[in-house]
Amino acid sequence: MATQGFVIDLSNKCIVVTGGNRGIGFEMSKAVAKAGANVAIIYRSSKNAPDVADNISKEYKVKAKAYQCDVSDAEKVNKTFEVIERELGPITGVIANAGVSVVKPAIDLTTEDFNKVYNVNVLGVFNTARAAAKHWINMKHGGSIVITSSMSSRIINQSALQKPLTQVFYNSSKGAVTNLTKGLAAEWAPYNIRVNALSPGYVNTDQTSGSAKEVLEYQAKTTLLGRFAEPEEMTGQAMLLLSDYATYMTGAEYFVDGGKLVW
Ligand code: NDP
Repeated sequence: MATQGFVIDLSNKCIVVTGGNRGIGFEMSKAVAKAGANVAIIYRSSKNAPDVADNISKEYKVKAKAYQCDVSDAEKVNKTFEVIERELGPITGVIANAGVSVVKPAIDLTTEDFNKVYNVNVLGVFNTARAAAKHWINMKHGGSIVITSSMSSRIINQSALQKPLTQVFYNSSKGAVTNLTKGLAAEWAPYNIRVNALSPGYVNTDQTSGSAKEVLEYQAKTTLLGRFAEPEEMTGQAMLLLSDYATYMTGAEYFVDGGKLVW
């Protein structure tokens, strides 16, 4: 195989994954553990998150632990990072992956809906990235931050079929977080902190499971590969960005969308 010999080794690293207990984040948590890293799984409310971490720990023989923390609460995020450092060792990378959506026609959206989406997708990502950067700047060492954005940062991912179920706050929050990625990358480059966005296409997770059958079919049809992604297919790009193969990669947005050229 062409990839023979190209091994991503994350041993001696400690990676924080927000939303690491299910969906795309869960596959990220497993992938980094499999590559030898200790993994801190941040979750909001899923009761089984500690068991998820225990299973990863047993399977991959690394330290894996779940931490309940709402990423929209900056103080809690900072404190959680301190606890992780004490329990799992120096944090070397972060996957700021937690995200939510409100699916509603724009005309009906409320300020509460706005806060719900932006507090996680933008402020939560910022809180997570800053907690890591603050620490790395103090310690005078670099690190890698991977932010899960979305293909909807670039395209308004709605088809005529989806009317009236739209998600303008979600789409715009992903545009914002991609731009946030670039701003943070610029500001923290002097500290050797690399910040990149990973933008998935349609991925088979809880977030997408509620979509109507016609929407799912339409989404698959308008993707060059003709299907959705499985969550584990998002891990390759994230692993690369966390690894020492990516020392010259920062401020970029990487689309892992199966070729979403039309919508
Ligand atoms: P899921 O809905 O499957 O999981 C969301 C995760 O985020 C859960 O682990 C949840 O924790 C956590 N979370 C939500 N809010 C908070 C919060 N306030 N604090 C801490 N953790 C929180 O999501 P996906 O795996 O589908 O998506 C992951 C990321 O990928 C998101 O940013 C999403 O926008 C993005 N994405 C997804 C796509 C898809 O097709 N699925 C496409 C493009 C981008 P808990 O379990 O405790 O609730």
